[in-house]
Amino acid sequence: APRVVIIGAGIVGANLADELAIRGWTNTTVIEQGPLHLAGGSTSHAPGLVFQTNPSKAMTEFAGYTVAKLLSLVKDGTSCFNQVGGLEVATTPERLAELHRRHGFATAWGLEGRLLDPAQCKEMYPLLAQEEVLGGFFVPSDGLALAARAVQLLIERSTAAGVTYLGDTTVTGIEQEGGKVTGVRIGERIVEADIVVSCAGFWGPAIGDMIGLKVPLLPLGHQYVTTDALPEQAGRNELPNGASLPILRHQDKDLYYREHGDRIGIGSYAHRPMPVALDSLERVPSDQMSEHNMPSRLDFTEEDFLPVWEDSKKLLPGLEGRTFEDGFNGIFSFTPDGGSLVGQAPQLDGFFVAEAIWVTHSAGIAKAVAELLVDGQSTTPLHDCDLSRFEAVQTTREYVEETSAQNFVEIYDIRHPLEPRTSPRDLRSAPFRRRQDELGAFYLESAAWERPHWFEANRHLLDDMPSEWAGPERDEWSNKFHSPISAAEAWKTRTAVAMYDMTPLKRLEVSGPGALALLQKLSTGNIAKKPGAVTYCLLLNADGGIRSDVTIARLGEDRFQLGVNGNIDLDYFTVEARRQGAADPAAWAHVADITGATCCIGLWGPLAREVMAKVSRDDFSNETLKYFRSNEVVIGGVPVTAMRLSYVGELGWELYTSAEHGQKLWDVLFEAGREEGIIAAGRGAFNSLRLEKGYRLWGTDVTPEHHPFESGLGFSIAKDKTGFVGAEAVDVLRNKPSERALRCLTINDGTSMVLGKEPVYIDGTACGYVTSAAYGYTVRTPLAYAWLPAGTVEGDVVEIEYFGQRIPATVAADPLFDPKMERLRG
Ligand code: FAD
Repeated sequence: APRVVIIGAGIVGANLADELAIRGWTNTTVIEQGPLHLAGGSTSHAPGLVFQTNPSKAMTEFAGYTVAKLLSLVKDGTSCFNQVGGLEVATTPERLAELHRRHGFATAWGLEGRLLDPAQCKEMYPLLAQEEVLGGFFVPSDGLALAARAVQLLIERSTAAGVTYLGDTTVTGIEQEGGKVTGVRIGERIVEADIVVSCAGFWGPAIGDMIGLKVPLLPLGHQYVTTDALPEQAGRNELPNGASLPILRHQDKDLYYREHGDRIGIGSYAHRPMPVALDSLERVPSDQMSEHNMPSRLDFTEEDFLPVWEDSKKLLPGLEGRTFEDGFNGIFSFTPDGGSLVGQAPQLDGFFVAEAIWVTHSAGIAKAVAELLVDGQSTTPLHDCDLSRFEAVQTTREYVEETSAQNFVEIYDIRHPLEPRTSPRDLRSAPFRRRQDELGAFYLESAAWERPHWFEANRHLLDDMPSEWAGPERDEWSNKFHSPISAAEAWKTRTAVAMYDMTPLKRLEVSGPGALALLQKLSTGNIAKKPGAVTYCLLLNADGGIRSDVTIARLGEDRFQLGVNGNIDLDYFTVEARRQGAADPAAWAHVADITGATCCIGLWGPLAREVMAKVSRDDFSNETLKYFRSNEVVIGGVPVTAMRLSYVGELGWELYTSAEHGQKLWDVLFEAGREEGIIAAGRGAFNSLRLEKGYRLWGTDVTPEHHPFESGLGFSIAKDKTGFVGAEAVDVLRNKPSERALRCLTINDGTSMVLGKEPVYIDGTACGYVTSAAYGYTVRTPLAYAWLPAGTVEGDVVEIEYFGQRIPATVAADPLFDPKMERLRG
């Protein structure tokens, strides 16, 4: 087995060493700056509440594994998990609705839970003031992780398997050679390694600095107190930390509770963010480390707690007359989007990070990282926590500090899936932003881009629009961040012509003598076509899971332009190009992110050619520029790369030019299209049109846990192609019946909306979940894509659960709109 060094023996590092040992990798050294019996990181004082429900399927699975593993970690007849159940209560109608939604997530991901009325909440948790509570959501398999004890048992077990632990030892540097990690430095000494994994928790940025890696997390203080003994709790639990009541969340007041014997522990997120500068933390000598004195534990600031002490007494009246003791401000990691940070540093082969991970997800993520190292990929996909998911502008200190602190404040807030942050904004704008502003664009934010969702300037179109194009009245939730104007924009796209800002779609240029070989190896497409060819294909993992979908345009012999899904793809191509160049210097390839230097307008609709004829001398006919071909053209005097593609399923082109020409290109097209009724259209219409056309969205409809055939993407594997990553798996999967399939559903009543991530029932049993949903303006029905058992066929009736309501839907043809592609090839 390779030599592995793990930095940090908290719940993550100890689990990772154990998971590697389980897979036969025991040549591992875990290095911990604190004493091994009480390292002094976040794990050393975590109260260990494990609420598994999460909007992310992967995070729910990671939590589920943590529960199962800690239950199985037994010594002296006691496991490391106290499965008391988890109760979230609502004290507002909005929260009650949100609990229905959370019940939906849990069900969608296969986690059992149930909704309770106030009396049932009281019965389950007698300390509650029933009159304060409107209802609850209970997950019986939630509970308390005994995190510090688990670390000790994992150290014991992995040591027995051959893992070496070095306590009281601080890593001071990372050694590397030729772009590969070779070891870690401990003062004067070097521990050699083929792989280094930083599990340093909130110290992660300091380790990252050692190799020039920005680790986008912010250490923040979080208050936790324990009350004095409650008389009515006397004799209930073992002292000092026993518990038998469910763990409890009171999200309306940013609070959570657990028992410690006859006392109650209270955690609060209701206070001001308390960022911690790593270099301000005092070193605690090993012999002085204790539960009350450790680097991750700051002095209590009582004034921050007093307001929620009052809130707590309201919810749990037994606290009246009690006091709180032993309060502290404990430090742990927050990130810009609240997710964990896992993956390889793009600049250094063999250096990995597994940080900003809750106790809740620790064993699950550790298992996934062990699989990533040993097998090359994890069974539960890690893309939700991929270290590479952030754009450069999202890793600046300014961004990380502001957004991570915001995440602390909003941790329990009810957030709509489309809800944008209010600050920082305007970090990335298309070069025709001024024109979009003039047209009254309503922007939502994605990857720090401002993306128009609709244009107020199009509101007047609603007067002329035939009534059959209008969508239904929406419920309050699905109506958020939605405008009826999207209907008019969809109408115009299908009947006239529209301009879409496609600038935020990430673009890479791959060039050099090794470019073709690199793309042939990493993708499922046949890229070795003549310049001008455009190929839609997949990037697979070795097991055939879809790691991304891309379009690759061959612009020259050694020059390719790629449309990719995000920064994860950029880092993947960069690392693989570096490896290829190291193995064979003649086969070098250069990967450049050209997104910001360029821009893109999607000009789509049946009248697109008429518009183009007025502004370009180039030939845009079917003969010259076929579907899935590209050409260098001039539009209004501006050099443009035109690609005959359309994500909305209409005739037209993606028009790429450098950023400096963006506004000119916009103006030329907009002016030329007046007679044809050209409009600017936004993402609201776009999402509807792409779903009608059945185009999958990677990360939402398909993820690395899905393979091409069950995803309806088998067509994107080039015939007879061999030797690409995933090729062997594809050969096996091609002939292996899958248990599930991505299906298109239409809503039977023609009006009810869903949004995605809802559970789907067949004959009363939950057996799938919705990925994307939209109102299909052209097909005149709400529609959804969902993962369902493979046996479901067109015409089958299912039910989608939305805020507790069961909505009947029918498995429909896929795609619903223009299956023969006549409009695209028009
Ligand atoms: P840590 O436990 O901090 O381990 C990192 C280790 O790396 C440390 O031991 C540190 O000494 C070591 N290290 C750092 N730098 C170096 C170096 N240069 N050389 C050698 N060693 C180094 N999570 C939940 O899931 N549920 C909860 O209820 C919960 N409650 C919490 C309550 C509080 C008050 C706090 C503060 C956190 C809570 N958390 C909870 C979060 C949870 O504690 C952390 O997310 C988790 O413990 C992080 O584990 P870790 O192994 O990544 O980090």
